Amino acid sequence: MTDDDPRSSTPQPAGPFGGLSIDFSGDGGLGTAAAPIAIATEPATATGGPGPEAGGQGPVETNLLVVGSGPAGLTAAIYAARANLGPVVIGGSAPGGQLMLTSDVENFPGFPEGIQGPELMAAFRAQAERFGTRFVDVDVERVDFGERPFRLWARGVEYRAQSVVVATGASALWLGLESETRLRGRGVSACATCDGFFFRDREIAVVGGGDTALEEATYLTRFASKVHLLHRRDQFRGSKIMQARAIENPKIEVHYNTVVDEVLGAEKVEGLRLRDTVTGDRHDMPVEGLFIAIGYRPNTGVFRDWLEADEAGYLVVRDRTGSNVEGVFVAGDVHDHRYRQAITAAADGCRAAIDAERWLEAQGIAEASTTTAW
Ligand code: NAP
Repeated sequence: MTDDDPRSSTPQPAGPFGGLSIDFSGDGGLGTAAAPIAIATEPATATGGPGPEAGGQGPVETNLLVVGSGPAGLTAAIYAARANLGPVVIGGSAPGGQLMLTSDVENFPGFPEGIQGPELMAAFRAQAERFGTRFVDVDVERVDFGERPFRLWARGVEYRAQSVVVATGASALWLGLESETRLRGRGVSACATCDGFFFRDREIAVVGGGDTALEEATYLTRFASKVHLLHRRDQFRGSKIMQARAIENPKIEVHYNTVVDEVLGAEKVEGLRLRDTVTGDRHDMPVEGLFIAIGYRPNTGVFRDWLEADEAGYLVVRDRTGSNVEGVFVAGDVHDHRYRQAITAAADGCRAAIDAERWLEAQGIAEASTTTAW
């Protein structure tokens, strides 16, 4: 089970995070960009965010710069900070990654009662800050990995780094409906393995026609009384074997040429307004859950000119956590489209930080202090 998946959004009675709100950025709340650019010269407060000392003049220099502040980036920061590398994290304008959009996390080890996604990320961040990680909650706009120090720009500030860990994650794609956004976490989810458990004996729907949709629809039959699989065309894109598995499953009803025009319900999902793409006919379908399974987009655009990516845009990893640019390391969902879990991303961040530390030592830039058996 994978409730630590950032795509999770379990049905909650109140508020996007079950009513939980954490001031993560230190400047007024969730998802807001820190302004002006500030670098804490002292470890920042446990609530997160840049410290009071405003930098923002000349280039900010560091041995290790982490791009991304989800589980991979923050774990890399914890390891790098404890190894005295003085890491800087450029955390993005919505720091914390996709777990900030997650409510119950029930399978991250160490939390037998479960934990809210934002609370878990606040704890990661406080731990990184405790050892002196500096945070800047802005988006990287441009990079130059042509020579060392590597250079990155964000909100007019230049950052120079001897090594970089790229941990910018991936985002689930959504249909883009207003009602879908409004009911996210109230029956709308993009992660069956995270949230299927919450739909025991309920009737639900899955949107998509690729392997993810076929796999998730099949998986959801473990819980749901019935799964409607809605695909916009008359042929699936997914593999034959996954198609057969889904079509033959008595709990799955396939609806071809069908799109969702609206998710119905005020406080939680109560149904779907569907449209037949051939006839244009509309009808409502009563369901209590909607799983969107139409693919993912890795957040790699800013690195496009420098780092090797596969055809889907995921970064290509070389020699464990390396990239095609020596000194630039990769961690988490930005390359991993298989596991996509907070725990696997965190482990990846650890590996990348240790590799970066060893690499910096080999360059004579920093002394490795993490004891690792090789
Ligand atoms: P995908 O192959 O790109 O399929 C996305 C599906 O969503 C397509 O059927 C597409 O419809 C539909 N779609 C896209 N945008 C939509 C929209 N706005 N409204 C309605 N439908 C929309 O993505 P994926 O299924 O996530 O798979 C990605 C890759 O991972 C694939 O290579 C897949 O084989 C692989 N994968 C493998 C496994 C496995 O082997 N166990 C499991 C999961 C994924 P159209 O077909 O009309 O374009």
